[in-house]
Amino acid sequence: MPENTETELSQLPVAVIGSGPVGLAAAAHLIERGLTPVIFEAGNAPAAAVEAWGHIRLFSPWQYDIDAAARRLLADTGWQEPDAETLPTGAELLQQYLRPLAAVPAISSALHTNTEVLAVSREGLDKTHTGGRKTTPFLIRVKDGTGTITDHRVRAVIDASGTWNTPNPLGQAGLPAVGEPEAYTAGFITAPLPDVTGRDRARFAGKHVLVVGAGHSAANTLLALGELATQEPGTRISWAIRRTSAASVYGGGDLDGLPARGALGSRLRALVEEGRIELHTSFTITGFKSADTLAVLGTTPEGETQLDVDLLVPATGFRPNLDMLREIRLDLDPAVEAPRALGPLIDPEFHSCGTVTPHGARMLSHPEEDFYITGMKSYGRAPTFLMATGYEQVRSIAAALAGDQEAADDVQLVLPETGVCSTDLGGSCDTPDAATDQGASSCCAAPEPAATAPAAQESEAGCCGASEPAAAAPAAQESGSSCCGTPEPAFLGIPTGLEHGRSAEKGN
Ligand SMILES: Cc1cc2nc3c(=O)[nH]c(=O)nc-3n(C[C@H](O)[C@H](O)[C@H](O)COP(=O)(O)OP(=O)(O)OC[C@H]3O[C@@H](n4cnc5c(N)ncnc54)[C@H](O)[C@@H]3O)c2cc1C
Repeated sequence: MPENTETELSQLPVAVIGSGPVGLAAAAHLIERGLTPVIFEAGNAPAAAVEAWGHIRLFSPWQYDIDAAARRLLADTGWQEPDAETLPTGAELLQQYLRPLAAVPAISSALHTNTEVLAVSREGLDKTHTGGRKTTPFLIRVKDGTGTITDHRVRAVIDASGTWNTPNPLGQAGLPAVGEPEAYTAGFITAPLPDVTGRDRARFAGKHVLVVGAGHSAANTLLALGELATQEPGTRISWAIRRTSAASVYGGGDLDGLPARGALGSRLRALVEEGRIELHTSFTITGFKSADTLAVLGTTPEGETQLDVDLLVPATGFRPNLDMLREIRLDLDPAVEAPRALGPLIDPEFHSCGTVTPHGARMLSHPEEDFYITGMKSYGRAPTFLMATGYEQVRSIAAALAGDQEAADDVQLVLPETGVCSTDLGGSCDTPDAATDQGASSCCAAPEPAATAPAAQESEAGCCGASEPAAAAPAAQESGSSCCGTPEPAFLGIPTGLEHGRSAEKGN
């Protein structure tokens, strides 16, 4: 094993895994700190995951979607900042912010697309070796588009690889159902959130499509399929959920505290009641058989059943890919798979809001020094991550790597009175009131707020586009404290990426 001095180490670049919003922001902060990033992106272009859900409108307006260091880098390029109050689609986020950012020479020269990180380790040291870890470079093993495998030496690692590529399995107990891998290979199971009325239209037109899941992603896809079915004869829609009822997805209809949300829920309910969507409740998938069509085997209270479909859209949430970190000394929350200190603050069993007490490098650290998981992946299986949270994470991490511990510890998450996850004009879960700033009580920030957590859990709803306001809001209001109870007067589209984690559902 080569001898390494701290000086040698400090001359190596910092690896950033993934070039999504948070990976690119990490690179911008590193550059500002005088550190050299090397960015590995598995997709053939920057922010490949955002591109995949480009047809979805964000629920955070532009002002919360742009990282401060990125904005400073872009300022020198003649970049026109989009209107702060507008809600972009994923495609607009890409075109108007992420692509220009990735094209800034300091970033583009460091960015390797079509380059998937296969593994992270320490040079010459497997996980069991303790001596000299701190002064040994990390080894990043990557595979490029030609299949060539290369090892890179770096001084630190920021894993911002998201969770988009690892949807939760469709089978019960967190495990793939029998035949699930084969159904994926045969092309019967699509990506989450396909663009059924746009890019992917031809694939869905005239087909029998099963949507699985009971969150916002499922609702989004079902409404789009409903639209497609009016234009494309023969399109048939089935919807399978584990719950006994879809009420939580419908929201409160005319009585919904959010009229626009109520209208969307009502549209979904109407599609079901008119028989245009065939709803299967209390449905547990037990297996798949791939042939000319996909046989979806399941159990319901009535016994065993089978649905024969052409395509299945999984809307069951995501989980982090930890396989590539097998040789790294991690310290993760056993349930959520987020860094241990962060896990209890975002555990969807107790929290349904979009953000937590501001946190940075210290809370995100692992026994493996100078290694960080950040962005969407830092939330593990919790579905409530916000970009603005990730931007503060990477600001703090870059400061820590640059040796500026004071700046690293000075974590702040400046979110507005109006919140960013619900586009409301009143309070919201993201309103960091004085108490929240101090890490004191609020349904959003406190580790386990006794009064409000059970209510949130029972409602299976987040105030960030919650799907069951009738249950959630009164309970929170009773507690007298919460963002979750404040009606949101403005709501644009069903937000996704929040409520579709199975772990938030009862009975799992
Ligand atoms: C539909 C949807 C809507 C959302 N709307 C909002 C919103 O309105 N507001 C908000 O704040 N948040 C929103 N989020 C949540 C979150 O902010 C986004 O998912 C955001 O894209 C997360 O950024 P990220 O950089 O952490 O991860 P990602 O955007 O997922 O980027 C990760 C990148 O890493 C790459 N990658 C993965 N594995 C590897 C590997 N092994 N090697 C190399 N590269 C790899 C991927 O290709 C990808 O480009 C939404 C999420 C979804 C899914």
